[in-house]
Amino acid sequence: MKFQELHISDKLKEGIESFNYSELTEIQEKAIPEILKSKDLLACSQTGSGKTAAFLIPIIERILSIKTSGIKALIITPTREICKQIEEQIVGLGYYTDTSYVAVYGGNDHDGFSRQKTALTEGADIVVATPGRLISHLALGYVNISNLDFLILDEADEMLDMGFYEDILNIIGKLPKKRQTLMFSATMPHSIRKLAKEILTEPYILDLNFSKPAEEIDQQVYMVYEKDKPAMLANVLKEHKDDKVLVFTSTKVSVGKISAYLRNAGIKNSSINSSFTQTERNDTILDFKSRKIRILVATNLLSRGIDIDDVNLIVNYEIPDKAEDYVHRIGRTARAGKLGLAVSFIGEKEILNFNRIEKLLEKDIEKLSNPEGISQGPTYRQITTGKKNYHKKRFSNKPRKGNNNKTAK
Ligand code: AMP
Repeated sequence: MKFQELHISDKLKEGIESFNYSELTEIQEKAIPEILKSKDLLACSQTGSGKTAAFLIPIIERILSIKTSGIKALIITPTREICKQIEEQIVGLGYYTDTSYVAVYGGNDHDGFSRQKTALTEGADIVVATPGRLISHLALGYVNISNLDFLILDEADEMLDMGFYEDILNIIGKLPKKRQTLMFSATMPHSIRKLAKEILTEPYILDLNFSKPAEEIDQQVYMVYEKDKPAMLANVLKEHKDDKVLVFTSTKVSVGKISAYLRNAGIKNSSINSSFTQTERNDTILDFKSRKIRILVATNLLSRGIDIDDVNLIVNYEIPDKAEDYVHRIGRTARAGKLGLAVSFIGEKEILNFNRIEKLLEKDIEKLSNPEGISQGPTYRQITTGKKNYHKKRFSNKPRKGNNNKTAK
């Protein structure tokens, strides 16, 4: 379906044209008409599916017909990075419509807070916010959200994982009961269904079965001992000299180690993790977006929602503990239908994690032979966890062998 066929105002169509999108993505085609009809929505959607425009286009359209002043739409999102990306899309889509907006997130300077305060006090049409910072402003009393028409929870599962359940309920408690609510989530665990039940009214449910990675991603998997991973990574990066590459690790410490190793091996790269300042994070993401840097080493911080175009290669240097994170990480490539490659290294202690990933994907992924110069890694196998025994052991009342006076580490 073409955007021209949508029943929306010409001003908004002009904004969409500036993005050069030709056809609606699946989620846009399904969600936009329902949102325009005022339905609540629960959408299970993968990042990269075009979900941001799927809610912004109908929301901006609906706002155009509301004559009252004040905040009309509130978008809550887990991280500042996603917040800023949504803001960028509001700027482009709403360019010809005079829709006002403010992005409300922490980590910036005092001026940032004051600017947010002014826009909130004046009542920007759309507020896109992270929960923590929004609550800080709400507590100060100048934000009037009592006439709000639209609430959008983006990446809802991630917000719950980050422990924002109470904050979200607290914010929702201040909103009018009569409103349209849209919830987007990459996965649909019990906690999300429970929240949906509490805050949505007869929602239109869109399950695009997106706990699976896009078909366009070629997934290559190697068995690699931990000690061989640095050399293996250098090998892969040398083979993909022109690609834009995101290397994922599980901890801040390994981000630093890997980045330094690559630099010593003459491979230029940059790194990012949650302990960087907001400015450092912004600058690094901008440099990566503009290809000033080609290789970025990151933690899971970058695995969700961040919209960086034309990443051709994802390297899972470490296999994530949570199978869903694998899907999010490799979803950074093959965005909006492009082809992409994801290369993963399974170390000797990560076999169980990969078992879980294959279970989630409902398929086995072939383990390839390591290139010359890298020893063949551990043997892949199915590991049984023996959870029952673990429970018994941990809570057993029997005295432990050895010196009981030792302080636990
Ligand atoms: P999102 O899922 O919202 O993070 O969007 C992922 C990427 O898809 C963004 O770069 C959007 O600009 C892009 N996008 C959104 N809608 C379309 C579309 N209809 N056609 C092509 N690209 C799109």
